[in-house]
Amino acid sequence: MKKLFEKTGIEINEKQLFCFEKYYELLTEYNNKFNITAITEKKEVYIKNFIDSIIFSNLITGKTHIDIGSGGGFPAIPLKIIKPELKLTLLEATGKKCEFLNALIESLNLTDVKVVNGRAEEYANQRLFRENFDICTARAVARLNILTEYCLPFVKVGGIFIAYKAQAEQEIQEAENAIKTLGGKIKQIKTVDLMGNTRTAVVIEKVSKTEEKYPRTNAQIRKNPL
Ligand code: SAM
Repeated sequence: MKKLFEKTGIEINEKQLFCFEKYYELLTEYNNKFNITAITEKKEVYIKNFIDSIIFSNLITGKTHIDIGSGGGFPAIPLKIIKPELKLTLLEATGKKCEFLNALIESLNLTDVKVVNGRAEEYANQRLFRENFDICTARAVARLNILTEYCLPFVKVGGIFIAYKAQAEQEIQEAENAIKTLGGKIKQIKTVDLMGNTRTAVVIEKVSKTEEKYPRTNAQIRKNPL
């Protein structure tokens, strides 16, 4: 599997490789009990979950990191494996997935990682969460206009929100108003080819505070996206 990482230009040491191997084993074990991820074949898990999660690691700046809708831990846990200095919070709405994430953290001996079972639009209003993170990431959680309302309230002014997407031109256009309204500005759009699949990182910088009325309730966000 090391060669797969090397093919995409990612250098990885033996200890990190061992962590990914353990990660794969635990994911398979829990997937038999409850559905964590639809991707189960080993090479596919490595490419579409592990490598996909770290392909934009050079865009990660800062230390405090929150990942929204982590599911099986993507992209945040692979990022933590290769960047152990990150101080990570995983916010995930489904209890069973949080159970898996806690087991994973223990099994990989990861430090400075906290799992929170809850919804983004509820936690974003809490003092210890709001505008308290250098970096926010999210993959496969919602369309960008909705996702920005979930995520940007967590980011400090000067910090960044990175949305992991496939082809994103249309979503970016659709999210222009949401990004501006919530205090963001597109900093960079980076596209790479990951073994035949287009992957895009939409990097949004927080340039001003988010007004207190955001995020709205999930029903309002979905019914009337910004
Ligand atoms: N990020 C992971 C990945 O890329 O494999 C999981 C993607 S999964 C399709 C979406 C996850 O987001 C689910 O586990 C769901 O419970 C969680 N989720 C959806 N909306 C959320 C919200 N508003 N707050 C927290 N978690 C949310």
